[in-house]
Amino acid sequence: MIINFHTVSLKKKFPLQISRGIHDRSQNLFIEIIKDGITAWGECAPGKTEGASSAREVEIHLKRLIDSKVDSLALYEVKQRAKELNIPPCAFAGFDIALWDWKAKKANMSLKDLLGLPSPHVPTSLTVGINPPEIVKERVELILKNSQVRALKIKLGSKEGIEYDKMIYSQVIESTKHSDISIRVDANGGWSLEEAKFMMKWLAERGAEYIEQPLVEGDEDKLKFLFEGRLLPIFIDESCRSAKDVAEHYQYIDGINLKLMKCGGITEALNILYVAKAHGLKTMIGCMSESSVSISAGASITGIIDYVDLDSHYNLDPDPSEGSSMVKGVTMINSLPGHGARLKI
Ligand SMILES: [Mg+2]
Repeated sequence: MIINFHTVSLKKKFPLQISRGIHDRSQNLFIEIIKDGITAWGECAPGKTEGASSAREVEIHLKRLIDSKVDSLALYEVKQRAKELNIPPCAFAGFDIALWDWKAKKANMSLKDLLGLPSPHVPTSLTVGINPPEIVKERVELILKNSQVRALKIKLGSKEGIEYDKMIYSQVIESTKHSDISIRVDANGGWSLEEAKFMMKWLAERGAEYIEQPLVEGDEDKLKFLFEGRLLPIFIDESCRSAKDVAEHYQYIDGINLKLMKCGGITEALNILYVAKAHGLKTMIGCMSESSVSISAGASITGIIDYVDLDSHYNLDPDPSEGSSMVKGVTMINSLPGHGARLKI
């Protein structure tokens, strides 16, 4: 097995500001695995909250994993080895994606077909970051120029407080009043319990579909006070990093948002989905700053996911990878074997 690493700089068309900070560029690590004449691709989007803050750090962790002689192991054994070696989820995610890509290509099947999953069919939301209302207006107008777009995800939980959040959301309502579009809200843990209670009522009265991560990660014991009498469905994102978290918090949430970089790839994403569904929860998939490679891996499993937020590659200038496109608002995979995407080198 030959493994090559490629570090690639990604630039965003529009910087994305959320409750924890602002991002306008990043460096991702791409993994190219060549075995039996088959080339497979994976991608890691580093993130401090996902265990490694740079492409360099991700590469060091993956070299530790590879040096432990993983090439003769089954995928589930590789995952176990990564756990023993404390490989961060955003690093293992890229390796896991590449292994699944290889496995599907070896079988000459798409990853979706290998997993026995339906085709992607849920339109993706597009994200609007925390910005002054005049910028929000510009962004929403630009997004709506694409008539395929069916849903917006609005980032709230701004450092300026809930009055500022209300101004942002009110602008979105104004800018979308002539469109038939769903509006979801992600607070990224930016609210206190009292603010979350207030804002959930306020947003429910103004047509929001659900709220994502109202409370900061670590405050999960307070979810029960929000859950009782809630007017909006509650999804957790930062509070759901593995299937174990679903089993711990299912009583006081309506759904979970998984991300490949946060949970460590396709293998754990499937575990999360099965546990969430077993507990009657709704499911969502989101993304970090990812290009078409890991977006296509994620899109390969959206056939069994209720809400999709796979939009980061649309905001890249340019997308260094190819393989995924928007079809009728859905982030689609192509018909090639594997997840169907590759780094353009
Ligand atoms: Mg989120």
